[in-house]
Amino acid sequence: MNELVRMISQDGTLYVLALNSTEMVKKMQEIHGTSKVCSAALGRLLTAASMMGALLKGDSDTLTLKISGSGPASPAVAVADSKGFVKGYIGDAKVKLPLNGKGKLDVSGALGKDGFLTVIKDLGLKEPYCAQVPLISGEVAEDITAYYASSEQTPTVCALGVLVDPESENVLLAGGFLIQLLPTADEAVISAVEKGLESVKPVTTMLAEGLSPEDICKKVLPNFEMQLLDRTQTGYRCDCSRERVTAALIGAGREGLAEMAQDNETEVVCHFCNSKYVFSKEEILKLIEESK
Ligand SMILES: [Zn+2]
Repeated sequence: MNELVRMISQDGTLYVLALNSTEMVKKMQEIHGTSKVCSAALGRLLTAASMMGALLKGDSDTLTLKISGSGPASPAVAVADSKGFVKGYIGDAKVKLPLNGKGKLDVSGALGKDGFLTVIKDLGLKEPYCAQVPLISGEVAEDITAYYASSEQTPTVCALGVLVDPESENVLLAGGFLIQLLPTADEAVISAVEKGLESVKPVTTMLAEGLSPEDICKKVLPNFEMQLLDRTQTGYRCDCSRERVTAALIGAGREGLAEMAQDNETEVVCHFCNSKYVFSKEEILKLIEESK
């Protein structure tokens, strides 16, 4: 169960989402066999994508976050739908690094400090919306905040956390919150938000204390009266199918297909869920025939 909650302040100046993404990050680790630092890196990105996806308006809209950094695990990709369901993958899921100077998993070291965060929103228009910002730290949350500031001019606070058991390497807890100031917010609102955040504990600490996403929304904004907008369930979900893979193969063009037809079998593995799709030589030849 991954509970996603949205709340708005009574005075209409800000909006907050909070998510307990523990199950989706566990599922991701099960699929990709991520190392500790990669569980943290991709887990944070999935958590952010889920909340950002839930901000999309159209039912079939999708959002993609991609971090292409100089680190050995890059790139990391997360795709979300407008219900907050996500899927993702990371370049090298096995990267191991020593803890950073603060004794934390070195996400920035794994993804890299130099590089870009790309945000793509497919809103069903002719061209998808696409924005790219340089990485601030490669720790993910700060990079998301920077994206909102520079590309959407929306002051945003983003916090993300993934707690991994140092011994078993299992994901124990994951979650995040996203606060957005609405255009009605003035300086007084900004300083009230900042003041409230000073004493806020890390997300996974709040989850470990048994706080629900709704509790977290209230906890991070103690100076505001908050109203619940909705509470939904999300998760890790891949929507690949034989039909979609077939369409992608046709997209490779006749030359690409002709190359595949030289092998007795063509195996396609989904990046997001590791499902295997096998096509025989005859099936590939048939695709070539049909695409004439
Ligand atoms: Zn898949």
